[in-house]
Amino acid sequence: MNGSAGQAVDLNGVCVWPGRLPLPAQQRLVGDLRAIARAAPFFRPVTPRGQPMRVRMTAAGRLGWVSDRRGYRYEPRHPSGVPWPPIPPAVLDLWHEVTGLARAPDCCLINFYGEGAGMGLHQDRDEGDLSFPVVSVSLGDEALFRVGAADRRAPTRSLWLRSGDVALMAGPARLAFHGIDRIRFGSSALLPGGGRISLTLRVVAPGRVAPGGPGG
Ligand code: FE
Repeated sequence: MNGSAGQAVDLNGVCVWPGRLPLPAQQRLVGDLRAIARAAPFFRPVTPRGQPMRVRMTAAGRLGWVSDRRGYRYEPRHPSGVPWPPIPPAVLDLWHEVTGLARAPDCCLINFYGEGAGMGLHQDRDEGDLSFPVVSVSLGDEALFRVGAADRRAPTRSLWLRSGDVALMAGPARLAFHGIDRIRFGSSALLPGGGRISLTLRVVAPGRVAPGGPGG
């Protein structure tokens, strides 16, 4: 048991478990992510309109989500051409535990939020089958998470996500608009240089996967 683990919180249908991942598990995970970033370094994507995103990104799994001038999509390789490293077993275990699904996720997107980073309100809808849930894990600095509904104009609610918190977007909340308004840089000691990492686990059933890989 983790002493800081709290009861699940409902945020417009998104289920958040505060402190679900105990500190030693968070620390082990940071080690796993370091190994992933050595093989598949963080890069700063640009939006299809050419705007640099505020987060840096990499991924693990069969597919990684990428964004560039050609659009948002899933690719089987890092922009350098190397395949994405495998998803760490502890992350897969957490996915199965939280979702109750036997099906493994195809993608573990890894976003790094440095000082001043955030992410605007958006839906996750580049996956081929939107009926599968999305699971996210927060590591490092606290982040103000905003959640609305599938209609962009619907009212939003916000919650500070802390290191070790796990969120599940399922059912009607799967397509809820959501974003990170800001982080409290330096609020956690988990990442030595400060900042926040979020892991986002998704099933990417065939349909929106680029056929040719990078440049293809
Ligand atoms: Fe998202």
